[in-house]
Amino acid sequence: MGAGQEIAADAPNEKLSAGLSGEERRRYSRHVMLPEIGVAGQERLKAARVLCLGAGGLGSPAALYLAAAGIGTIGIVDDDRVALSNLHRQLLHGTKDVGRPKTESARDRLSDVNPQIEVRLHACRFESANAEAILRDYDVIVDGTDNFATRYLSNDVAVFARKANVYGSIFRFDGQTTVFAPHLGGPCYRCLFPEPPPPGAVPSCAEAGVLGVLPGIVGTMQAVEALKLILGIGEPLIGRLVHFDALKMKFREFNLRRDPNCPVCGERPTIVSPIDYEAFCHGAPDLTKAVPQIAVRELEQRMKLGQPFILLDVREPFEFGMAQIEGANLIPLGELPTRWQELDREKEIFVFCHSGVRSARAAEFLRAAGFPRVANVAGGIDAWSEEVDPNVPRY
Ligand SMILES: [Zn+2]
Repeated sequence: MGAGQEIAADAPNEKLSAGLSGEERRRYSRHVMLPEIGVAGQERLKAARVLCLGAGGLGSPAALYLAAAGIGTIGIVDDDRVALSNLHRQLLHGTKDVGRPKTESARDRLSDVNPQIEVRLHACRFESANAEAILRDYDVIVDGTDNFATRYLSNDVAVFARKANVYGSIFRFDGQTTVFAPHLGGPCYRCLFPEPPPPGAVPSCAEAGVLGVLPGIVGTMQAVEALKLILGIGEPLIGRLVHFDALKMKFREFNLRRDPNCPVCGERPTIVSPIDYEAFCHGAPDLTKAVPQIAVRELEQRMKLGQPFILLDVREPFEFGMAQIEGANLIPLGELPTRWQELDREKEIFVFCHSGVRSARAAEFLRAAGFPRVANVAGGIDAWSEEVDPNVPRY
């Protein structure tokens, strides 16, 4: 059974049987002539309901192409207004729209691209209180949000509802996309990153900047994946992550694994209802302060001095493939309980991950396992890249 069949099974039957009008057959003729799509596929697109989280850089190309492709119902969630600084990448909006709610500007543009479709507006934040109710009326999520609270929330509710979540993210000149769908055999976002980084640990586009055309490429890839899932054609990007480096014009692919201990899609889930992450982050104890820390500059000094120590990387192999600190040993956090014996207890150990949260857990684990000298590298490889070695790619 293909992914598309499972998705279509959720759609109302009367919509599935809705045929194409003469005008629709003309509009979609270049689709219909593809044997992989045909009239049946186009009808399936017409019956499909896609929820676009965010009408920004990623949501713009995704929603434009999905509308043009004839997705019958497109939902847009966004509580923001159009700002002048959005226009270099958010092509749903024009100069005349500055100051308007993004949902309204998006509806006008999408309706112009394709008046045959329904555009539903959700001019609100996607929050724990409304996320499941909003998602109920859609088959697939295209997540184009730019903050961790929404990313974790959209992941969790998509897992609960057994709906595919097409992920995209952008940073400066680099972008990534994948499809999270544990019900179709792949991992979810929390399989890779069980917990969000501490507030402020990762800069946003507003703080770090982004090449304007980059979300155009990543958001368009998200639209491709959404269409493939709905049509049940090709090989969906489930269990694979595509990384795009605009400066090198290189695409690289990484395999992602499902984590049986994942707190939301694992065998014994501990998260079974939506969490309001803004509130949750403040209530959770900050482990990063509970273990000794070393700053990246200090780590650099220790390296230059040539003192013996173990540099332990507890990230996932796909992250190791994207960016590394030279000389580090890789033991992913999830494997530490069965592999810590590989480490020399006599040596000092500096642990790092992406931003310092997972490595704090690892450091705590090692100290509990009797390693006397363990410190957490504050800010992780992200801080290393920012402060010490800009040649290490950020992601
Ligand atoms: Zn998971």
